[in-house]
Amino acid sequence: MQLSEESVDEFKEIYKKKYGKELGDAEAHESARKLAGFFELLYKCAQEDSAKKRRLKKEPGGFPTDGNRNCLVCHAMITSENGWYDKYGQKCLNCQRALNTGAVPTYVFINHDSFFLPWQLKSKFDLPHATMRKLLRQGKLTARVITTENGGVHEYILLKKENPALVALEKWNPMRKSYDRHRDKVHRREMREELKKLKAGLYAEHAKWKKKIEKLRTR
Ligand SMILES: [Zn+2]
Repeated sequence: MQLSEESVDEFKEIYKKKYGKELGDAEAHESARKLAGFFELLYKCAQEDSAKKRRLKKEPGGFPTDGNRNCLVCHAMITSENGWYDKYGQKCLNCQRALNTGAVPTYVFINHDSFFLPWQLKSKFDLPHATMRKLLRQGKLTARVITTENGGVHEYILLKKENPALVALEKWNPMRKSYDRHRDKVHRREMREELKKLKAGLYAEHAKWKKKIEKLRTR
């Protein structure tokens, strides 16, 4: 992007006022170019967004997404072939179907922090997929299932509302100690209890499976 000398000088002045440091010509050009590029991108996104909103007024049921994007719920790659945009944003057709049939509540499409995906359980709590499925079968965890067109499992959505143990686990993060210090002690004890229960359950699961596998091996 070409910037006028006037704009670069203006940038230099603002920079000096804000940071008390004079920028050299080359440095000022480079920084101003980067900043302008960033704003151009923001502007383009805002423009796209408002064009889509205008189109929604004419087509309230939505329309196929454009270009390569990601589903806002399951994060799958979507194109105009398998993506749909409506007032709840862009999604893959599986998540769209789950929205239409009510398999998942609509707030999932608005508040992306209202649920866990299986990979998040793995990365946040070191909970393997197989263990998660086992806990689901035992009713210790609850999931809404987003299905594929053929009725297979596309993705599990573990609503925070339906899985208080996971919420407790998430809150019980040593990094948040200073924050937790301000919360009442009873609540903290409850969280610790939840964590203990869940962990004990998980360890017991692991131990059981380990035994089973060893038995198979020694057969
Ligand atoms: Zn999806």
